[in-house]
Amino acid sequence: MILTFKIKHNRDFSNELKKAKQIAEFAVRTHTLSSKDVKHFGLKSIIANQILKKYSRNRKIKNVKNLKLTIPNQGILVNKEKQEIYIPSLKLTLQFSFRNDFEKMNQIEIDEQYAHVSVTIPEKPVIEPQTWLGVDRNATGHIAVVANPQTGKVWKIGKQAEHIHMKYKEIRRKIQKAKKFRLLNKIKNRENKVIRDLNHKVSRKIVDIAIQHNAGIKLEKLDGIRNNRKHTKSFNYGLNSWSFYQLQKFIEYKAKLDGIPITYVEPRNTSKECSRCGDIGIREGKSFKCLTCGHVDHADANASFNIALRQPLVEGIGQLHADRDACKGSTDTPEGQLRERRRPQNLRASARRACQRCNSRIIYISHFDQYIAGRLF
Ligand SMILES: [Zn+2]
Repeated sequence: MILTFKIKHNRDFSNELKKAKQIAEFAVRTHTLSSKDVKHFGLKSIIANQILKKYSRNRKIKNVKNLKLTIPNQGILVNKEKQEIYIPSLKLTLQFSFRNDFEKMNQIEIDEQYAHVSVTIPEKPVIEPQTWLGVDRNATGHIAVVANPQTGKVWKIGKQAEHIHMKYKEIRRKIQKAKKFRLLNKIKNRENKVIRDLNHKVSRKIVDIAIQHNAGIKLEKLDGIRNNRKHTKSFNYGLNSWSFYQLQKFIEYKAKLDGIPITYVEPRNTSKECSRCGDIGIREGKSFKCLTCGHVDHADANASFNIALRQPLVEGIGQLHADRDACKGSTDTPEGQLRERRRPQNLRASARRACQRCNSRIIYISHFDQYIAGRLF
């Protein structure tokens, strides 16, 4: 997997970036691939060549925007022990603090402030999960609540999110009142950065729990976040869909690197259904109560158990392929497909209500199949 890390380089490259822009514009005009043609601009040929490759070959590019200095692998020296990168063509030394286990440093792109370092990190083989953890993401309270239905254990992670959001909301309100708009942008960026750090920590924690328990991770399929009734309201005063999506991406890539499989479940009613009997219960704030079986739980914990126990929409990594199949002939959401997939879930809910095999609060996934078989034959 390729990951990109940002390092502040603390150097003024405006001169080099100006030369690079001239070369790129020259390349757009002439489509030359020879570095001799651009020698007079005075940029090191190893960097100039990268610009020529990009701008001369692609005839669709008309304007030069967001240009960076690209240094290919052969122009980078890495000292893993000292955690040091040296770029001879720019006489630039960078200290890196990111993970040391990369196979290869692919390239470095340099802009006014940062060096964007792209590395290839080997992925661990995918584990055979013994259980699935349900992860409920939330706009209020904890960012993520994780449940392991095999042990009944619940983890509530990322409590600070709401606090951070409220704090910055208040700061933003004050700045807006004072009409300091430039400062407003700065504050927004700072908040994004804080949330990003938090999402990194939360996703790391979730993947670590999965590793410890030899478990896969189940998430709600929230691609259509905008249409999802569960969250629309809370977005108004809580975290936004951007940060949900970011958390999902972080969990996905960290899980992939550590060989933890991820599946997605239909999000409908995950917060309303009772995780013990499958009936619709009453949710008030963060508390959940089921009138059918009397089950009482923290609402997010109940939701995360529901997620953990749901049938995956599509199994594992092959999801893109299956999604494409489901959409064949239609660009709309495969509504019929979803409805069809939900049917076994209802069956499952009724099975859960009646199961006597395990005496615990929640009936284990492994018991489910046996029970269905027992009932049918
Ligand atoms: Zn119930």
